[in-house]
Order: sequence, then C-alpha cells, then structure tokens
Amino acid sequence: MKNFSRFHNMKQNLRPPDLYEYFVDNYWFKSVDLENQKINEPLRGSHKADVVIVGGGFTGLSSAYHIKKKFPEKHIVLLEGACCGYGASGRNGGFCIATDLLDESNTSSPEAIQNNLDVSFYGINFIKKMISEYDVECDFEENGMLDVALTEKHIQGLEEAKDELKSFGLDSTLLLGKELETEIKSPRFIAGLKNPHGATLNPAKLAREMKRVVEEIGVEVRERSVVTRITPGKINHVDTELGDISAPIIVLALNAYSHKLGFFKSRVFPISVFQVATEPLSNSQLEAIGWQNRQGLSDMRTMFSYLIQTKDNRIVMGGAFTYYDNDALCSGNDKYFTPSIIEDLFTSFPQLESLRVEHAWGGTTAYILGQRIPSVGVMGDHQNIYYGVGLSEGVPTTQTFGRIIADLMAGESNAFTKHNVVNQPLAYAGPTNLRGIFGKVAKWMWTRAE
Ligand SMILES: Cc1cc2nc3c(=O)[nH]c(=O)nc-3n(C[C@H](O)[C@H](O)[C@H](O)COP(=O)(O)OP(=O)(O)OC[C@H]3O[C@@H](n4cnc5c(N)ncnc54)[C@H](O)[C@@H]3O)c2cc1C
Repeated sequence: MKNFSRFHNMKQNLRPPDLYEYFVDNYWFKSVDLENQKINEPLRGSHKADVVIVGGGFTGLSSAYHIKKKFPEKHIVLLEGACCGYGASGRNGGFCIATDLLDESNTSSPEAIQNNLDVSFYGINFIKKMISEYDVECDFEENGMLDVALTEKHIQGLEEAKDELKSFGLDSTLLLGKELETEIKSPRFIAGLKNPHGATLNPAKLAREMKRVVEEIGVEVRERSVVTRITPGKINHVDTELGDISAPIIVLALNAYSHKLGFFKSRVFPISVFQVATEPLSNSQLEAIGWQNRQGLSDMRTMFSYLIQTKDNRIVMGGAFTYYDNDALCSGNDKYFTPSIIEDLFTSFPQLESLRVEHAWGGTTAYILGQRIPSVGVMGDHQNIYYGVGLSEGVPTTQTFGRIIADLMAGESNAFTKHNVVNQPLAYAGPTNLRGIFGKVAKWMWTRAE
C-alpha cells in the first residue's frame, strides 16, 4: 500500500468554510514562513484616498503596481482581509502559462497576431521584470510546459494544440511513445507536447514579494482589513470591520470572493481546487521518473491533473475540483479529495511508491459558465468601479489585468484595452439552488469524457 495512510479513511467534510481560517496546510505558505511574516496593521478610523483596491491577490497587487506607476501622485490604498496572497494567488499550482490569453478568433493579420502575442506574454514578462528590477524571489523557472496524453483521443488534442500554437508562430514538439521518455517516464503517458512558453513558480513567494514592491513604490497596503460593504457612488464608500474609506475610484480584485460583497452574483461559479505536496524527492526518485527538465506537467483529461517540481524537489500536484452548494468558498483544509489526487500521482508514477505526501490544501477560483475567458473592465453608474474576475487560471493573466485596469483608467486605446477580455460579458450561472446540480452533472460529464 502506498504511504499516504494519513489521508485515508477521512469522513466527507463538506462544511461551508469560513472566509478566513488561521491555519491552512498549504506548502507554499509554509515555504514563506507565513506565520512569522509581518502582516500589516488593519485600516482603523475614517479615511479618504484616490483609489481603493479591494483584494490582495495578484489582481489587486498588479493593479496597485500599474496604477501607481501611471499615476504616481495618486494615494492608493489596498485592502486585504487576511494577508496578501491568502486567496488563490498564494495557494495555486504554480503554473505560469504564457499562452493563456491568445485569442484564436483574432489572427487575421500579422499585426493582429503580434498584438495577441504581446498581450498574452505580458503576464510572464511582467513577472520577469519584477525579478530583474525588484529582485523578486519566487523560484521562477522558465522550463516550459509538457502536456501528456493518456489515450489516443488525447493525442489528437495535442496535435490540435500544436497547430494552434503554430498559427501564432509558436513552436512546440510532439513526442510519441518512447520519445516521451526523454522528458518523463510513466507507464500511463503515451505522448506529450513539449511547449517552451511557460514557467513554474512559488505563488506565495510571488504574492508576498509583490506586496513588498508595491509598498516600495508608495502604495498603502492594509492587511487584516475585511471589507464588509461597498456603497458605490460618485464617491465610493468602503466599510471595513474596523474603519471606512472613501474614494472616487475602486478596483474589485476579489475573483471567487466577489459575490460575498454582492458583485457578479449569479455570474461567477466559485470552484474549489485541491492540491498536495510530497516530501522532497531523492536523486534516485527523480531519475526514476526522468523529469529532469522540470517543466510544468499536465494531462489532457477534462478533469486534468497538473504537477510541478518545487525548488527543493517536492512534487506539488493538483487535480480535484468541486463546487460547494450556495457558492460557498473552499475550506482550505477540506481533505476529502486528497486521496484521489494521491492515487492519481502513484498511478502515473508507480516508481515513487514509498514517497510521502506531507501537505494537502485547497483554494477557490472562479469559473464563468460555458466560457473559459475571464473579464476585466469598468462598470457602475459613474464608470469608476474597475474589476478583474472569472480568472480560473490566472497566475500570468492577473498580472496582465492589472496593466489593463491602469490603461483603461488612463483612457488609453491599445492592444491591451482592445483585447476580447475587456468588458467581456459574464454568462448567467443559473439559479443558485440548481447550481449544485449543474456542478455535479458537469463533473460527471467531464469524468466520462476522459
Ligand atoms: C488550488 C488552485 C490551483 C490553481 N492553479 C493555478 C495554476 O497552476 N496556474 C494558474 O494560472 N492559475 C491557477 N489557479 C488560479 C489562480 O490562482 C487564480 O486565477 C488567481 O490567483 C486569482 O487571483 P486574484 O487576485 O484575482 O484572486 P485571489 O488570489 O483569490 O485574491 C482575492 C483576495 O481577496 C481577499 N478578500 C476576499 N474577500 C475580501 C473582503 N471582504 N475584504 C478584503 N479582502 C477580501 C482574499 O483574502 C484574497 O486574498 C489555481 C487556483 C487554485 C485555488
């Protein structure tokens, strides 16, 4: 039997989680020693600002950076309920896929293709800029991506993905059968697509470092400042548990948490995603799986699994999703799904049988029904509420959204503000009481569609 008894025989724990749990068994939090980090003082008393940003994940932090750079004179206050990086931004799989924002419907001319590439690659390039200009330390490794096939049908999917990349002038390499063993050794994988356009990173490190950067350039960051109400108007009023602040401009950077403050209700599906982290692999274990090029690895199933290697050679793996009734958020410590992830890990890599799994956690991200693209834009009677939402895979896209929000604020017309994600309408998610059923049916269909 595999060595993961710690996670077996757990009762189903689907309690509606609290917004904030003090301890989350998240390897990334542990790797930044979050418990001992300085968490900023909350907002107390009444204040005024030029811009208030609500949410301290990547969308909020990138917006803070880009707005401050464009409008250095503005007093910007970022309000985060727990600490920067507490939400999905500090819990995710660490995949940074450069091609996420390529718009396949817009390849009509070389200029359109170039604009598309500029927007899509902006997120990863911005992270590289943070690393080189501000010494941001986030274990960034630009080793590309490796998508693997488990079935013949998946191979077709890989071929299509290769063609799509080619239509943007991007190279990738299809590896069939034994050829794949130069990149990964698994009895389960029958082909792979090696794509150099992507990176892996430690997301909690990136979020905590971005907090440092935005403070260095003059943004006021208030942590432990739970926003309890937003009253829109020409001047927006924002109440927190211990204070309040008003500003002519606000930025909603709440993604899956948006509905808790009354925004994008019935538009966003909060989907909870679960992950595990193993102990560090020994050299012989690494050799046994042959993953020496350390790409981000994911398979082609609809309910796919994804894995990266950490700086200290652990495997962080995710691959279980669920929807909690009534749009509830994920309990970071709900380990009901952990055994299925671990089983998947050892089915792919029986060579690792003795490997221990040390951490398991979850987080909530946002899906829009029937559409994979997120939305960024401006809304409200006074066109002064900026937002980024529906970011199901957002590590680089959130970075780009910060830039788009700043460009929109400045009234600019460019490839970023004209991209199809801007003011993208959000599909109706169906009545709340039926959403649980939609979620279960969709999951059943996805599982069958393997
Ligand atoms: C387990 C998991 C794995 C994932 N893997 C990947 C991956 O490998 N690659 C990828 O690209 N994407 C991945 N994603 C998605 C990605 O993490 C998100 O798209 C992205 O982090 C969204 O960033 P955000 O800043 O918009 O939202 P968040 O990071 O969720 O930030 C929202 C912030 O708002 C705060 N907040 C909420 N309510 C309030 C309030 N009332 N007052 C004040 N603050 C509040 C929260 O504490 C939180 O910090 C994953 C997500 C999860 C959950």
